[in-house]
Amino acid sequence: MIQAQKGTKDILPAEIENWHRMENAAEKVFSKANFKEIRTPIFEATELFARGVGDSTDIVNKEMYTFEKSERSLTLRPENTAGVVRAYIENGFSRLPQPVKLWYKGPMFRYERPQAGRQRQFHQVGIEMFGASEPSADAEAINLAVKYLNELGLNDLDVEINSLGCSECRNNYKNALKEVLKPYLNELCEDCNYRYEKNPLRILDCKNPDCKKIFEKKEIQNVIYSDFICPDCAEHFEKLKKYLDILKIKYSVNKLLVRGLDYYNRTVFEIKSNNLGSQNAVCGGGRYDSLVETLGGTPTPAVGWAMGMERLNSLISKPEPSKIDAYVISEDAAEAMKLTNELREKGFCAEFDYSSKKFKKQLEKASKTAKFALILLEDEIKNNTVTIKNLETSEQISCPRNEAANKLN
Ligand code: ATP
Ligand code: MG
Repeated sequence: MIQAQKGTKDILPAEIENWHRMENAAEKVFSKANFKEIRTPIFEATELFARGVGDSTDIVNKEMYTFEKSERSLTLRPENTAGVVRAYIENGFSRLPQPVKLWYKGPMFRYERPQAGRQRQFHQVGIEMFGASEPSADAEAINLAVKYLNELGLNDLDVEINSLGCSECRNNYKNALKEVLKPYLNELCEDCNYRYEKNPLRILDCKNPDCKKIFEKKEIQNVIYSDFICPDCAEHFEKLKKYLDILKIKYSVNKLLVRGLDYYNRTVFEIKSNNLGSQNAVCGGGRYDSLVETLGGTPTPAVGWAMGMERLNSLISKPEPSKIDAYVISEDAAEAMKLTNELREKGFCAEFDYSSKKFKKQLEKASKTAKFALILLEDEIKNNTVTIKNLETSEQISCPRNEAANKLN
């Protein structure tokens, strides 16, 4: 038997209501803030991610699904910011009134070790906002993430923020960090040694417990918690905090928060949900003012985030399986079909038995699946009436056929 690939999952009908809820909530919350949906291709030139996500990241180094077609290297998108930035540039969005505010949803692909909440094909919903450099835009992005989670009934949230500064203050920080980490290089993991050369800030993102222990050393903590950011970046961060206070969004500053992608500057943030008692990182994002230029566009500030929909799905309450409104019972398929159609046109969810089984069999099926059975036997057909049985109370009435829909409440 051919099975679904490791790290991929079918989304079954029993779960689809939750997925519709997540999708509808996105449409509702983001369109209220005048964000428009964008749908970009699932595969892009590999080069886009190498440049856009950054070739020192885990994503580009070991997680991409890359293949060749007609001598072109293509990659299934591991995230959607690079694709949306490409679309922004390619469609000349910089000529539109700014800011341009976009949201998306869809599947992403990363070759990771599958485990709870971690798949190889997973889904993200996210927003990207272009052309606004002000901290109020960062606050708006965080606010929309929180509002979206609230809309899904998730209220117990931990919002963590940090500022990575601009390239100048970041360089100072990088150098200070390299200096203090140097004596520990042979104790740090292989990945950290690689990051030390390529992008030392990302060392702080290491999940290896031995590395984490080293970061707790006093002299390293002193550097982590030092004020390396320049006055402009500091002001940006202070204003963001003020706006979050005004929006009554509780947050904490996490100086170790650097995010896995290379393109962030100034604000980065993550949101965890504590619903159901389990800590769960559902959202990550930040400001990426240089990415549009890096990918060949005119310099355009931008901020955005992405959420993992499988993780959201595991946090939101599961709907009860619901019954359909009406099951039409008849041994005459044509009559059953006609009445079923009439009910559907009036907005009800209705079904009938395709094989015109015996009355008793049909009633059994109706009792399991529907709120009402609408019975059309010989007498009813002759008199143009219908017998309506309330399957919860077993109450039964008879009425003219054209009044049947009015009785289904
Ligand atoms: P993590 O540290 O958990 O690997 P990340 O930093 O790689 O997360 P982002 O690239 O920022 O995550 O993606 C944003 C969100 O997408 C994450 O917070 C998570 O909810 C979700 N996500 C990321 N990778 C996966 C995956 N392989 N399977 C399911 N969800 C994922
Ligand atoms: Mg990851």
